[in-house]
Amino acid sequence: MSLALSGIGVSRGVAIGKAHVIMRGSIDVAECSLPGDLIEDEISRFLNAVETARQQLESIRQRIPKDTRADIAAFIDTHLLMLDDATLVTTPVETIREYHCNAEWALKLQRDAVVAVFEQMDDAYLRTRRDDVDHVINRIQRLLLDTGQGETHVDAGTPENAIVLTDDLTPAETVLLEHQGVIAFATEYGGPLSHTAILARSIQIPAIVGARGIQHYIREGETIILDGLQGLLIVAPDETTLAYYLEKQKKEQQRSSELATIAEKPAVTLDDIPITLMANIELPDDIEAVSRENASGVGLYRTEFLYMNRSTPPDEEEQYERYMAVIDALKGKPLTIRTLDMGADKEVDSSTSRRCSNPALGLRAIRLCLKNLSLFRPQLRAILRASVHGPVRMMIPMLSNTQELQQVLTLIEETRNSLLRNNLAYSPDIMIGAMIEVPAAALSAADFIRQLDFLSIGTNDLIQYTLAIDRIDDEVNYLYDPLHPAVLKLIKMVIDAGKSAGVPVDMCGEMAGDPRFTRLLLGMGLSEFSMHPRALQEIKQVINSSSIAQLTPLVDELLHHTTPDRIPASVDMLNSLD
Ligand code: PEP
Ligand code: MG
Repeated sequence: MSLALSGIGVSRGVAIGKAHVIMRGSIDVAECSLPGDLIEDEISRFLNAVETARQQLESIRQRIPKDTRADIAAFIDTHLLMLDDATLVTTPVETIREYHCNAEWALKLQRDAVVAVFEQMDDAYLRTRRDDVDHVINRIQRLLLDTGQGETHVDAGTPENAIVLTDDLTPAETVLLEHQGVIAFATEYGGPLSHTAILARSIQIPAIVGARGIQHYIREGETIILDGLQGLLIVAPDETTLAYYLEKQKKEQQRSSELATIAEKPAVTLDDIPITLMANIELPDDIEAVSRENASGVGLYRTEFLYMNRSTPPDEEEQYERYMAVIDALKGKPLTIRTLDMGADKEVDSSTSRRCSNPALGLRAIRLCLKNLSLFRPQLRAILRASVHGPVRMMIPMLSNTQELQQVLTLIEETRNSLLRNNLAYSPDIMIGAMIEVPAAALSAADFIRQLDFLSIGTNDLIQYTLAIDRIDDEVNYLYDPLHPAVLKLIKMVIDAGKSAGVPVDMCGEMAGDPRFTRLLLGMGLSEFSMHPRALQEIKQVINSSSIAQLTPLVDELLHHTTPDRIPASVDMLNSLD
């Protein structure tokens, strides 16, 4: 009898194959007290395990095919760098020496201390870096415990055409999956913003995360279907189900080849309304994707990536150079630079690090910048100076009231004056905008807009804050609902406020790059979308087959008269219109 299990679909596509279950379980570490004369041997045992872990990672690194994108290979470099880091190596050695404990215990103590720091960070992306620490430490722990699992199971003899089912995957394992003939994977843990999920989308392999129980309900070698869009796993499908998914798979393949053919086409609705499609960028490789996918510019440049993996923040000059490089690469296309959206991270400025029981509601983004002007001013100067060299827009994240906005505008004015005094040029025409990602800001959009040149709706945070659910917690992910009537009302208010004031409003949250919502958003009046570059052609395809005149009254009806539980069905109806 067939069985269906669900998780969070993080990379679309249908895979039909045989289950390859990798049971790893958690690593139990006990504390042992060692006699003084064994301490040096214990330290050598620890350092040998670290060295073997390094050799394993280097060997994986070498086996990554040459044409693998640089940012994907960089995930493994990050793990290799961690093995050079005193935090993970020197401190456990000191602990063994001081407390006469076993290496596994010393490493566990250090892991708990490092993870505690990550737990305090209020930036969703950075918090997922905690997984990297765990992956590296688990590798060393397995070697110490001599479970024979230091080398990953995935790496050792994964059958061809397998669908891997496991607790979690390291980025290193994820990169190697497709080169071992693995056609899809599902993990028990992890959220849609984890590295593993990001990589799955990058290498375009269907994937599900947060699928609890899969290792127990699915046996090795069983036939399974994995639907990465719906987040569904079907075990031992009957003939009808199999036929349905084979057809779906064929359609998916047709869809990918069709999409590649429309990259050069403009995004225009059936009733001739041009729609702006921009790209969200983070890593250097994304810039190349902006021109490959023919985006009309960058709607969101997440600058926090410049501040990561270093002990001091980049200075004004370094930021200026980086922005200039992006401006050059964009060849006249607009670049929206978002000011630093980071939380209480001691690596940026130790004075900001503090315990915070609810980091997403704490000192993050613009709040952090306004408290740390020595951090914020160099960025403002660098953005203003870069604006001379191309069409730059400056975007402020997470504003929640107009006083904050006023403070930012005053600071920008002061920065302009100080540049003048230093004989440094800036463009007087730089557009200044705000991200609307806090419900209070959405409700006050009309007040914000009076002082701004554009607004950008950040649905990732707007949904998190409206519905009070942590966007990276897979346990509450079922409540993360972009179609909640409250979320739709807020989005509509912001779009309408922009229209009344004649100020452009775009959307740069994940909703803008999800084709399920494109027609709904068009019907709500949105005409500028910014998304991961890979999503662009798919969204364009929906736009080019939609008529705004047809959608507007239907969406109006949906927003005003549809009962909440009927909204998903009404959105499906919009999506099925010819
Ligand atoms: C958002 O919140 O929608 C957004 C685009 O910003 P980030 O995902 O970087 O928080
Ligand atoms: Mg945000």
